[in-house]
Amino acid sequence: MTEPKVTVYGAYWCPDCRRSKKFLGEQFIPYRWVDIEQDKEAEAYVLQRNDGKRIIPLLLFEDDSFLVEPTNAELAKKLGLKTEAKKTYYDLIIIGGGPAGLTAAIYASREGADVLLIERSGLGGQAGITVGLDNFPGFPEGISGQEFSERVTQQARRFNVEILQAVDVEKLEMEEGYHEIYTSDGKHYHSKAVLITTGASYRRLEVPGEEDFIGAGVHFCATCDGPFYKGAKEIVVVGGGNSAVEEGLHLTTFAEKVILLVRGDRLTASRIAMDKVNEPTSRIEVKYNTAVEALEGQDSKLKTVRIRNSQTQETEELHPAAAFVFIGQLPNIDFLKGYAELDQYGFVMTGHDIAHGKEMEMEPLPFETSVPGIFAAGDVRHGSTKQVASAVGEGAAASISIREFLRRSQ
Ligand SMILES: Cc1cc2nc3c(=O)[nH]c(=O)nc-3n(C[C@H](O)[C@H](O)[C@H](O)COP(=O)(O)OP(=O)(O)OC[C@H]3O[C@@H](n4cnc5c(N)ncnc54)[C@H](O)[C@@H]3O)c2cc1C
Repeated sequence: MTEPKVTVYGAYWCPDCRRSKKFLGEQFIPYRWVDIEQDKEAEAYVLQRNDGKRIIPLLLFEDDSFLVEPTNAELAKKLGLKTEAKKTYYDLIIIGGGPAGLTAAIYASREGADVLLIERSGLGGQAGITVGLDNFPGFPEGISGQEFSERVTQQARRFNVEILQAVDVEKLEMEEGYHEIYTSDGKHYHSKAVLITTGASYRRLEVPGEEDFIGAGVHFCATCDGPFYKGAKEIVVVGGGNSAVEEGLHLTTFAEKVILLVRGDRLTASRIAMDKVNEPTSRIEVKYNTAVEALEGQDSKLKTVRIRNSQTQETEELHPAAAFVFIGQLPNIDFLKGYAELDQYGFVMTGHDIAHGKEMEMEPLPFETSVPGIFAAGDVRHGSTKQVASAVGEGAAASISIREFLRRSQ
């Protein structure tokens, strides 16, 4: 496992501690969490570094420097993340630094386009938090999602792609024939073409208590947060698809037992994953027809998962060390609502799907959205296959459509 680069001293009740932990998790920065309410020596250490004040979180870095209650912007600066672009105008701005965005950036930049890539979290997207990629061609033994992401990012940097991190795109507009991209830090950039590769995010359970315990017993990423539960007796995983089953299997490396809560009456994962769950030595127990009704806690930490069997209506209380939720995804398109055509689930329509059945002056290019010059690729796109290999392929193909668009608009 990667050595922690930061130690976060805090307490479970502290919202700023949660915010800092969330930020580090999103940026894939390995950190160690120390609860000063459980560790008197750690509490004394915080008081000593902090002129006798008990202000948390205190974040201690590898070089022995520290920050107290930092804002996300201060933390981004300390971690050396680039948050401001060199210029205001680019040929192509790519929103989202997952496999699709990074691949498109490599292709476009290598051909001489001036490319800015904007990423709000960690580079690599969902692939970066995947335990292992077993099905990406060219790696016969598989490759960890983190290593894969680091390699693709290095490649993009080799071709001089300018990359911003910890910057969220909030709005798109058109002005005098150029696209305007507005970011969460109050800046805006212009470009001839835009590629949206913002992927998808975890769907929440939307039950009472969920919001209160995120990061404090409720998690959405086993790779990021599973190691905190090393030696735990029991962990709950919610979901019955591929992600839930694979991540559940991974969590058995930390906990003695994993309870999988499945809403329906069967698993919908791959045959290989289901076979592993059904092996006699498996440490996964599956509860079918089971829905989570509420998450409850004590001292701001998850303690109880209330469940109900939809067949018998019986309720039960579980007391796991943590609950990991893997129940599907939602496309990251807030900034596109009302701007470009989306399908009923919010995935972005492109190419033929837009032209289908409509009289149009000019049919959109492959991967082009209903807004000329704005393209979409990867998991966020309607009809995509939600895999790393296909996201990479779509990124490459979209960059070729963008090349054609830039050529035509010269
Ligand atoms: C747990 C898990 C396991 C998986 N296992 C496999 C596997 O074994 N094999 C496989 O092929 N696939 C696997 N997948 C699927 C695969 O990771 C995705 O299909 C792939 O990462 C999609 O790539 P993408 O570039 O389209 O989007 P993403 O990887 O989702 O990247 C999108 C990026 O855009 C960023 N972003 C979103 N909104 C904004 C915004 N407004 N401003 C700036 N940035 C923004 C996000 O932070 C993210 O980094 C797995 C996924 C998960 C979650």
